[in-house]
Amino acid sequence: MGMIVYGTRFFTKLEGYYGAKEECQYCHKVYKKAYVKCTEWAHLSYLPIFPIKRTYLKMCPICAYGVELKNKEGKAEIEDSNDTNDQKFETYVKHILIKKPKGIMATDRSYEFWIKDLITGEEICVASDLSKDDVKNMKKDRGLKNVQIIDV
Ligand SMILES: [Zn+2]
Repeated sequence: MGMIVYGTRFFTKLEGYYGAKEECQYCHKVYKKAYVKCTEWAHLSYLPIFPIKRTYLKMCPICAYGVELKNKEGKAEIEDSNDTNDQKFETYVKHILIKKPKGIMATDRSYEFWIKDLITGEEICVASDLSKDDVKNMKKDRGLKNVQIIDV
């Protein structure tokens, strides 16, 4: 008989950018906040069975500094706001091959997380010296699915 594993898992999805443009108190960039839907699911042997908790993460689209909102609050803020579509980003990861360690036991921390503002053309390096797992966590925090990795 196989072992039955019970637990919870988080799923995140970027819903969009809403509200007024505000300066981030952490990175000082002025943007509308990103709203990331966050659902915690109970699972049995990794098959989701039912959602336990739904929240929204309202965060700076650049550094991801933000707050957690109740599902209702998040939904209301999104509905009250016109998404005028004037904020667009491209997110990508640079793999700096020259910084890749030689030894097979060494952790490869040669990834950089970048965001390009598609309106102004500004490219921002959000974080560097990242491992593959760091990149995975950053993607998850921001509710992003596909982020291109570019070897440089
Ligand atoms: Zn910020």
